[in-house]
Amino acid sequence: MLPITLSRTERLKILANLDFEAKTLLLELEGDLDENSELKKVSDYCVAVRKEARSLTLDLGRIHYVNSPGIRAWIQFISRIQAQFESCSFRLLSESFLHLANQLPEMLGRPENAVESFELPYYCSSCDSRVLVRLGCEDVRSGTGFEPPARKCGTCGEPLLMDEIEQDYFRFLRRGAPTGPQGA
Ligand SMILES: [Zn+2]
Repeated sequence: MLPITLSRTERLKILANLDFEAKTLLLELEGDLDENSELKKVSDYCVAVRKEARSLTLDLGRIHYVNSPGIRAWIQFISRIQAQFESCSFRLLSESFLHLANQLPEMLGRPENAVESFELPYYCSSCDSRVLVRLGCEDVRSGTGFEPPARKCGTCGEPLLMDEIEQDYFRFLRRGAPTGPQGA
């Protein structure tokens, strides 16, 4: 089935892929989230099709920029739509969206909303270049913590370094985990 364009403003395009057989809805967003984003239109659509889909997947891999009114509108949007489906997950989180979501976990909605993949920035010191790598959450799991998997530069072959502070960037993976003192 062909995707439907739910919104196409100058800054943001939103496509809906409703699969009646699989009972899934995929929303793909591309552009910037701001005060002009037509999220109300999209949540109305989600409410209208909630009987046709059990699960909702959001692809945010092409969200480039989010301003403060965009953050407020997004949090309202996610809390409204996640209630319409049995499950809600994120297919891909862009680096810019993830930076904000790490500070404001409400941007990912309920803690049980799964993240399938996300962008991780690496840096090559010999080429002085930055590269975004798409990774699954399992790729960074290591023992009881998280660390970036080893990657090599596609240009010079030297090992890449993660270009963010691990503790901060992987914060979203600890959502819903108990915080605070765990005893001695
Ligand atoms: Zn290199």
